[in-house]
Amino acid sequence: MPRLSEVLAQFDALWPPERAEQWDAVGTVCGDPEAPVTRVLIAVDPVMSVVDEALELGADLILTHHPLYLRGTTTVAAGTFKGRVVHTLIKHDIALHVAHTNADSADPGVSDALAGALDLRVVGPLVPDPTDPAGRRGLGRICELDRPATLRDFAARAAHRLPATAQGIRVAGDPDAVVRTVAVSGGSGDSLFDHVRAAGVDVFLTADLRHHPVSEATQHTPLALVDAAHWATEWPWCELAATQLDEISDRHGWDLRVHVSKTVTDPWSSHHSSGAPN
Ligand SMILES: [Zn+2]
Repeated sequence: MPRLSEVLAQFDALWPPERAEQWDAVGTVCGDPEAPVTRVLIAVDPVMSVVDEALELGADLILTHHPLYLRGTTTVAAGTFKGRVVHTLIKHDIALHVAHTNADSADPGVSDALAGALDLRVVGPLVPDPTDPAGRRGLGRICELDRPATLRDFAARAAHRLPATAQGIRVAGDPDAVVRTVAVSGGSGDSLFDHVRAAGVDVFLTADLRHHPVSEATQHTPLALVDAAHWATEWPWCELAATQLDEISDRHGWDLRVHVSKTVTDPWSSHHSSGAPN
């Protein structure tokens, strides 16, 4: 049975904290380095429903993609939602660790997991990390389909393969357009449009796309856009991380139990189609 510090050393090898963006807050939020770890829960969001899931499972470590605190705070009072999370975790000896932009840029990282869920072949990073001489790390991924598909069929694939959410999948572009190449970026990707245009791909699949960047992208180029729920684009990473942690556990003879969260934490809770526009 490993101690928390031993598991965290493995996390830091997979997702080195120094590779996180400057503005990010990654690493261990709470936890005793000497405490034994038997069960790990991997989730996208450090919210109360995930903490409840950890309690039910008897997990002693939660690994999340999103930080609990991105900026400084002056209180962890249990009257606030984040303080309640901290109180509950400490009361039940559950550690919380975050791998965010350091997991985005890892090889394999968040967008590799997204590409894998969509059965895409990864060609390389969309925004290569200049510090990686091999050119394998970076943000987003440029991918190819095994066989060309229509935009309609590709979007249907995304709807089918990504975990279900109220939002589902939004599409901008001609549904009959042929798709051969795709850029993917787990999470909010609309700061990457310049890189997507430079890559010359047929489709960009990401989350949180806004009116103006989408309008401009589709006016100027034949680029099609597929927008999935933020949580759904990052959840496949939980499965990838679980596989990596299982391998580490086997290699060390640890017998860790690794669980992927089943809780849908996308904040959008329902969707109503407004009828077909003319
Ligand atoms: Zn995210």
